[in-house]
Amino acid sequence: MKYVDEFRDRQLAEQLAKAIAAEVDSAREYRLMEFCGGHTHAIFRYGVQDLMPENVQFVHGPGCPVCVLPIGRIDNAIQLVQQHDVILCSYGDLLRVPASKRMSLLKLKAAGGDVRMVYSTQDALRIARENPQRQVVFFAIGFETTTPPTAVAIKQAQAEGLENFSVFCNHVLTPAALTAILESSESHGTGRVAIDGFFGPSHVSSVIGSRPYEYFAEHYHKPVVIAGFEPLDIMQSALMLIRQLNEGRSEVENEYIRLVSREGNTKAQALVAEVMERRAEFEWRGLGLVPDSALQIRPEFAAFDAEKRFTLPAISASDIKGCECPRILRGQKRPTDCKLFGTVCTPENPMGSCMVSSEGACAAYWSYGRFRQPQRQAQ
Ligand code: SF4
Repeated sequence: MKYVDEFRDRQLAEQLAKAIAAEVDSAREYRLMEFCGGHTHAIFRYGVQDLMPENVQFVHGPGCPVCVLPIGRIDNAIQLVQQHDVILCSYGDLLRVPASKRMSLLKLKAAGGDVRMVYSTQDALRIARENPQRQVVFFAIGFETTTPPTAVAIKQAQAEGLENFSVFCNHVLTPAALTAILESSESHGTGRVAIDGFFGPSHVSSVIGSRPYEYFAEHYHKPVVIAGFEPLDIMQSALMLIRQLNEGRSEVENEYIRLVSREGNTKAQALVAEVMERRAEFEWRGLGLVPDSALQIRPEFAAFDAEKRFTLPAISASDIKGCECPRILRGQKRPTDCKLFGTVCTPENPMGSCMVSSEGACAAYWSYGRFRQPQRQAQ
């Protein structure tokens, strides 16, 4: 295949749906977690769940970087503007995520706070160059995909001697989150993990490669298939997972060979390792404190670390009452299980992070699935 349309071909999708229907074992369930919010979005946009037999269920995971950021870190970003008078540069999705006391970065901006939406780290560097009299902080979030550009920006700022630029680092790591899901008390409470296999993330895997998932296949006996973002990618990957489960295999397979290798992008990995190191632990919305699950800026680059330059206390804040984001991010509930879905909580008036980002499960359900029949719960 050469063009993206071919990965959305209806006839091929029908053939794959028939192959899946022919191979599923009607005596069992297949609960397949898509870790990545991009997959959740594609599954709903193209109606992939509707093409699956009833006993093949997609379980949505914590792979939306905006969704998993705890409220306390957004409160910290608000403090940077209110108490330290910085120019805060942030990706657009983050602006509308609810913080404590009914605040958000967008409301802060509307009230006169200097919050600027950027499309890249390079935009933030430009703003720092243009405002030498002000401190400029880049609010860095994301999985392994968005980490290399942050590392590049820090090295660039160092090379240019930009003394008014720093990074509020919130980059998180995929394998640690997978471990947390598989090790969660809920899994142990039932005696078995409610997820049978994983769709490995696409963009993240292009950076870290498929090798880090081998541990999950070997140690937890969970098959992993790295899947592309198009509907045929997801259907082919579902078929590969179903075959592994039917045959009692738990291996790492790579459907997304057009972008992902076993080793990944070693140049990007080296760059990130030069500038950042692992935190002992980091709080994830829905998963709580997860060891070795995030990055911080190395002491050699402390001059560009907003957490060293400014006083930022650790803030523990609860989600809005009734918001089921934490359980949705653990794959235990679906958005339609939330009483606020589509009533109080909509994309125009989000109550939780999962309704904000286009990669969030609630936003995907709202955009493409809110008129469908309710589906069974993941557990
Ligand atoms: S619908 Fe809104 S309130 Fe409910 S879980 Fe999703 S984001 Fe939270």
